[in-house]
Amino acid sequence: MARYVGPQCRLCRREGEKLFLKGIRCDTVKCAISKRKYPPGQFTWGRGKLSKYGIQFREKQKIKRFYGILERQFQNYYKKAEKQKGNTGENLLNIFERRLDNVLYLVSFAISRKQGRQIIQHGHISVNDKKVDIASYLVKAGDIIKPKNDESSLNIIKSNIEFVKGRNAPAWIEFRKDTLEAVVTQLPTRDDISVPIQEQLIVELCSK
Ligand code: SF4
Repeated sequence: MARYVGPQCRLCRREGEKLFLKGIRCDTVKCAISKRKYPPGQFTWGRGKLSKYGIQFREKQKIKRFYGILERQFQNYYKKAEKQKGNTGENLLNIFERRLDNVLYLVSFAISRKQGRQIIQHGHISVNDKKVDIASYLVKAGDIIKPKNDESSLNIIKSNIEFVKGRNAPAWIEFRKDTLEAVVTQLPTRDDISVPIQEQLIVELCSK
């Protein structure tokens, strides 16, 4: 699967806000957004106001960067969201939020979504007692996510939980600290999703 390998902070500066791509560093004074809150590149000063299309396009880029998705996968998710009943924008956000790499980040099994992806691909995670090494796996209500029962997997997850300290799991996931299990109690609703995205802008752009 293709992935972006360039500088992460550059993506936040391009979007003008924190996308939390680097884990703990994002909450420190070292965050590039705190130090240089202007777009990267040589000729970015004094660019005019964004057009309506520009605003919609930036919102789409932002959600892709937030979750670490490239264009083709985004298009597949959008088609899937369109086919589902209800509001397409909310369906789309719901799909992103249910990705296994995102769930690992939300329950502190990983310090960033990117690291979550790596942990999954290295085979450290099981869902319902079966190894899952696909980061785009979409969790379902009732799924139980936990580290594989071997020393290295347990150590990685425990040290991440210790390192992150204080990230609370969202209401739709129950985190059982004693057994190191994350249980999906229900699918997320729009109110459960805290990413700063205006999904209707993305729908306006993609439905043209
Ligand atoms: Fe973005 Fe984190 Fe870099 Fe700050 S430290 S600019 S939030 S990736």
